[in-house]
Formats: sequence, C-alpha cells, structure tokens
Amino acid sequence: MRGQRSLLLGPARLCLRLLLLLGYRRRCPPLFQGLVQRWRYGKVCLHSLLYNSFGGSDTAVDAAFEPVYWLVDNVIRWFGVGRNDIATVSICKKCIYPKSARTHHCSICNRCVLKMDHHCPWLNNCVGHYNHRYFFSFCFFMTLGCVYCSYGSWDLFREAYAAIETYHQTPPPTFSFRERITHKSLVYLWFLCSSVALALGALTVWHAVLISRGETSIERHINRKERRRLQAKGRVFRNPYNYGCLDNWKVFLGVDTGRHWLTRVLLPSSHLPHGNGMSWDPPPWVAAQSASVMAV
Ligand SMILES: [Zn+2]
Ligand SMILES: [Zn+2]
Repeated sequence: MRGQRSLLLGPARLCLRLLLLLGYRRRCPPLFQGLVQRWRYGKVCLHSLLYNSFGGSDTAVDAAFEPVYWLVDNVIRWFGVGRNDIATVSICKKCIYPKSARTHHCSICNRCVLKMDHHCPWLNNCVGHYNHRYFFSFCFFMTLGCVYCSYGSWDLFREAYAAIETYHQTPPPTFSFRERITHKSLVYLWFLCSSVALALGALTVWHAVLISRGETSIERHINRKERRRLQAKGRVFRNPYNYGCLDNWKVFLGVDTGRHWLTRVLLPSSHLPHGNGMSWDPPPWVAAQSASVMAV
C-alpha cells in the first residue's frame, strides 16, 4: 500500500513542481525577464558569429570516409582502372571515377568539371573547358559596355547631380516630377555603370593575366605551390600548358588562322575549343613551332 502511494506521489510532485516553475516564470520581475531576453539574444548572436559550415555533418562524414577514399584511390589504380585511352592523373574521391589532367571536382555542382576555372555564383554554373571563352567574352564586352556608358553619360551625370543639389535651396527649383526622376535615374545609371566597370574590369584583367600564363584560377594556386616546392629543391617549375603569351590566347580563343580574329573573336561564334578537355596535346601549329625552335 505504501509502495503504491509513493508511486502515485512521485509524478504528482513532479507535475506540481513544473506548474510552480511555470507560475514563477510568469511572475518573475521585468528586470529578470529583460536579463533572460538579453541572454537568449546573446546566445543567438554568438551562434551566428561562430557558425562554421565546415563544422557540419557533411564535413565530419567526409573526414570519417577519408581512409575509404584512400583505399579506393589505391585499389582502383592497382586493378588498372584508368589505364585506358583517357589520360588520367588521379581518381576523383567524390565521384570515384578517373579524373583527367586539369579536371577538378566542384562541390557545388557535385560533379567533375573539365579544365575547371572556378564556380561562378553569378552564373550559378561552373566555368570550365567548354564555356571559359564565353565567360571571358562576357566579362570583357560587359566591361567595355559599362566604360562606354559611364564615359558617354559623364556630362549628363554632372548636370543631373548639380540639379539634385539645388532641390533643397530656397526658393525651391521648379522641376517637374518627370525631370526629378530623370536626374535621379542618370545619377543611378552612372554610379552603377562605373561600379560594374571597376569590379568586372578588375576580374577581366585578372583572367587575362591567367590566360596569358596558360593557367586557370585553380591552377594558379597549384602552380604557385609547386613552384615554391621545386624552388626549395633548386629546380625550376615549368607549366606544361603554357605555350607562350600569344599562342595561349590563340588556343584559348580558338584562332587557327588570321581570319579567325575577325570571325571568331570580334564576331559572335559558337566554335568549340581546342581538344576534348581530356588530353592536352598542343594544337598542331604550336607543336610545329616548338619543333622548329628545337631544331634551331
Ligand atoms: Zn568528381
Ligand atoms: Zn560548379
């Protein structure tokens, strides 16, 4: 009987305590409530500041699977996968598939991309072997357009800006609603075009430098690391995809003859890039040039 009573009293006491606690919270003074709210707000801020996307479960699983990736990498090589027509240099640990030279895995697109340059968040797509030329052309012509627009609208911008400055004078100017909208639109247009010309221009120049060197944005980091490593050993790094500045541009733009500068560069063209993105033999005219240099 006593045992049964204690069995019933236990949960009853617990419920009572919970009710008292709830009642206490309702009756707690405003100062305490304010402190509790600040504490919760601080916790949210701290979590937001210290949030790390690399601390997620995906990263933990990847790290845990690293030995499996290593096993796959080595066992597949041992079985001879990859010793086929495709010139492979490694195995993609995510796709578990042979990966050719200059190919990199994009974690956003979740696939391997031939001659991957970078993942562009503006295009929501990867920039690689088949669209690198389009990407560069877009950046270059967009920059030119913005520079033209900023330069061409400079006088209009100055007039509109001077007019806006008189809005708050006494007596107020007699501009109509349409004129005021035109002034503001011109100022907005000039600032927008100039900002885009600066930002996109810097990106275009950076890509032009990389193309002149015959490397992609990813290869820039890899080659720099390799250059330092070999330098420490007293050796010189040589980029195998660098055929010389002008030839790099010709290969990149797909210019085989002089006429192509007009038909393939200045005019819109849908020609495919050199090679299939798997093997990286230089174009015949580059190979012929280097052979003649060797002969000399
Ligand atoms: Zn991959
Ligand atoms: Zn991507």
